[in-house]
Amino acid sequence: MPKGRGGRCIHCLQWKPVVTRDHVFPASWYPESTSADIPRWTVPACKRCNERYGELERDLFLRLAACLDTEDPEFGNLAKRALRSLDPKAGRNQKDTRARQRRQERFIRDLIPATGVPTEAVFPGFGPEKIPPPGGHQGILVSPEELQIFALKLVRGIAYHFDRLYLNFSEIVFDVIPVEEPIPELHSKLDRWGRRESNGPGINVTWAVAHEDSRGRMHFFEIWRKWRFYAFTRIAPDKLPDR
Ligand SMILES: [Zn+2]
Repeated sequence: MPKGRGGRCIHCLQWKPVVTRDHVFPASWYPESTSADIPRWTVPACKRCNERYGELERDLFLRLAACLDTEDPEFGNLAKRALRSLDPKAGRNQKDTRARQRRQERFIRDLIPATGVPTEAVFPGFGPEKIPPPGGHQGILVSPEELQIFALKLVRGIAYHFDRLYLNFSEIVFDVIPVEEPIPELHSKLDRWGRRESNGPGINVTWAVAHEDSRGRMHFFEIWRKWRFYAFTRIAPDKLPDR
């Protein structure tokens, strides 16, 4: 997609004189061990949508990557990167320093002592480590709405990247289920009918179009071998987008 060309945004579905290249999986989420020849999928998005999702992805990255083990040889750098983004001393200029300061204040405000948090409120895969760190565990609040919006964005990106489909989410049924481990019954279907794409060690996705009804799609995402979720979509009857 050459720079500066017009097109249709896959998120707001509007035609724009200029569209940007939006990364399906945010570029900064790939761990450093990702080989250079792994494709970083991009899809057309208007500037406004690209910026809006960029902001959401920065916030989610901060909260989730900060929960990774900084000593992990594979994903530890992501945790360090997240924590660095909170450090005003790493600011490149005055504006950047202030932005980091604000991020840090918000992050600290949303920290909670992990003791006493009910198990059902812990995000699957992100529970406390077996050996508590000095000073005890801390939890960080993550908005379920943000996770839902992000999952929706991934599903739209994949539908466009592989099938050139524009999904109109005001007309489809959508559900996201975070899990600690893959669910065998669902995985046997994905293994049989699905297509698996690995974007390096940190990002994997498998999805399948329902065998019995082509309007249904099931996706399984695995990010940093820790964050796993299913996303189900069902396009409303008579609203199947044109290919
Ligand atoms: Zn848009």
